[in-house]
Amino acid sequence: MTSSSVKHRGSIGPMAQEGIPGEVDVVVVGSGGAGLMAALTAAKEGARVMVVESREIVGGATGISAGAAWIPNHGFAPDELNVDDDLDQARRYIYGQGRGEVLDHALVEQFLQTGPEVARFIEEHTAFGWIPTIWPDYRSDIDGASVGRALFPGPYSPAGLGEAAKYVRPALTTGMAKNPLPFWLLGGIGVKDVWLAGPALVGALLEAGLRNGVDVRVEAPAVRLLTDDAGVCGVVVRAEGVDHEVRARRGVVLASGGFESSEEKTTTYLDAPFGVQVSPKGHDGIAVQLAQEIGADLTGMEDAWWMPGVQLPGEELEGHPLSRVFLGERALPHSIMVNVDGERFANEALPYDQFGQIMREVDPQTGSMPNATAWLVFDHTYWANFGIFGVTPGGEVPDYLHRANTLEELATQIGVDPDGLLRTVERFNPEVRRGRDPQFHRGETLFDRYFGDFHPRLGKYSPDAMFPAATAKARALVAAAIGPLVSRLAGRVARADAPERVRSLVVGPLAKIIRPVLKSPRSSVLGPVENAPFYALEVEASALGTVGGPRTDALGRALDTHGKPIPGLYAAGNAGGAPTKGFYGGAGGTISLGLVFGHLAGREAAHDAARGVVRAAADDAGREPVDA
Ligand SMILES: Cc1cc2nc3c(=O)[nH]c(=O)nc-3n(C[C@H](O)[C@H](O)[C@H](O)COP(=O)(O)OP(=O)(O)OC[C@H]3O[C@@H](n4cnc5c(N)ncnc54)[C@H](O)[C@@H]3O)c2cc1C
Repeated sequence: MTSSSVKHRGSIGPMAQEGIPGEVDVVVVGSGGAGLMAALTAAKEGARVMVVESREIVGGATGISAGAAWIPNHGFAPDELNVDDDLDQARRYIYGQGRGEVLDHALVEQFLQTGPEVARFIEEHTAFGWIPTIWPDYRSDIDGASVGRALFPGPYSPAGLGEAAKYVRPALTTGMAKNPLPFWLLGGIGVKDVWLAGPALVGALLEAGLRNGVDVRVEAPAVRLLTDDAGVCGVVVRAEGVDHEVRARRGVVLASGGFESSEEKTTTYLDAPFGVQVSPKGHDGIAVQLAQEIGADLTGMEDAWWMPGVQLPGEELEGHPLSRVFLGERALPHSIMVNVDGERFANEALPYDQFGQIMREVDPQTGSMPNATAWLVFDHTYWANFGIFGVTPGGEVPDYLHRANTLEELATQIGVDPDGLLRTVERFNPEVRRGRDPQFHRGETLFDRYFGDFHPRLGKYSPDAMFPAATAKARALVAAAIGPLVSRLAGRVARADAPERVRSLVVGPLAKIIRPVLKSPRSSVLGPVENAPFYALEVEASALGTVGGPRTDALGRALDTHGKPIPGLYAAGNAGGAPTKGFYGGAGGTISLGLVFGHLAGREAAHDAARGVVRAAADDAGREPVDA
């Protein structure tokens, strides 16, 4: 199938090219995971759907994400994965640490019950499949935690998108010092035949939406909601400076992502803007504004999906600086993270949501955030063994790293208190030589050790440990050499659209590789910072997205300040107040919420009788749903 031969019933493009209808059944604002999911579901229910997207491409943060979805009790490949999970266990986990008192149980129950169904709905109606993997939950040592709730996108072939593929960002490649999953094998993969991660999820949802008659308009920001006596009845969309009204007979789903790019809203709700951005531009919090304008209740506004970020010189996305997410590098031994006083402030191996939150803590005395800019300080043993961001271990030191022969000199270079740094290292080293961290308990949980330096099979005789640089180079060569073949094979697998078969081939071997990592000792993340030269990398507090937005009920309906549904208005994903508030359950903890509540909102909107309309109002013959 050539790309130009693919014809969809829905259309995609800017308004100047494709026009815009004056009336549809459901308008979805935003084309990330939540929005595309809402659109596909509403279309499958027979509604005529229009997605409006402010950017020139679709996908939002979902499009640059790993695309993982955290679905407790998902039930995929149970034998191959072989982990414990059930709904009760998931409830104990989510409601643990006092969250049972704070969270809305109706929302959590809905998420738990519907999550597995939604994961299957996606497989059934798109050319896409999930690959479950072993990845510890982010509170890995509390009751109810599991290691098997993260679903990753399997390979997706963009062939089915045809010309529409140009509206999706194919992939971003970012290196990581170490990862228990053999991601390095994918290093040479091209994007012509196959997409992975977030682009796979976005591409598959978009393709299925277009097949089912969804129309998508890019460069079409929603700027206002339309209301009538019955409730919300459409949106005003601005294109090339001109406002257009799009009426929605049944409902409007807000799925426009969070407000992390808005200086004004981050200052109002989160104390200060983020020093760096890890998510794409254009997350200005329009959902919050639109919701406020019509008296919707807001929830979760003081929280974000926290993530430390590292801005490498010149790295940008579509003309705006984009930082690397800082995941596993903090957990590796022979490193610490310090603030401007040269002091450690947290267990460096914490999951990013918790570490990032500590970076944003406000000192009540000064009103400042003393850890918002921090430094990863590491020694030459670290550098020689791990490198950073895909730079070969012990290789040429990139300009963005500071280097000095003594810790005092390094501290002076980076503007950190030298005495403070020396004191910190003098306190840290003797303890970690004994295999412990009494100050912050680094290495004590399963998650802490997941990204550590551990070679379960050959120990210190593994090639990784003995010849780190040569192994990294050999891997890069192998990945480049097999890349074209892997791409073609993965493309063929993707086109076959047989997720069960892929799972039966892949999940068992992957689980076998990763399971022993769960037995990593504390030493995998603890090692003294002692061998010169010393290095420092600047790290800034940031967030993958924000948590707060209009409060919704378990059907995705936006609520007013009295708790009553606002007829015709729905919200999902980062645009809506997250049903788990700021609780990040595990890898995929935000996308799963967007998919589940996007699905529910799309379904409910398609059948909405609250605005007093009947389904027969959908006057568009030829919009009957089809299967992908
Ligand atoms: C590098 C990275 C990796 C990540 N990995 C994961 C992961 O693996 N799993 C996970 O769960 N989370 C992950 N996250 C977080 C996750 O990507 C987001 O929380 C999630 O994708 C948000 O989905 P959404 O559909 O709510 O919003 P988005 O995907 O951001 O989509 C919102 C869309 O709305 C558009 N929009 C904004 N304003 C308007 C307007 N006025 N009119 C019309 N459209 C508008 C935006 O341009 C955007 O396209 C990651 C984030 C990053 C940055």
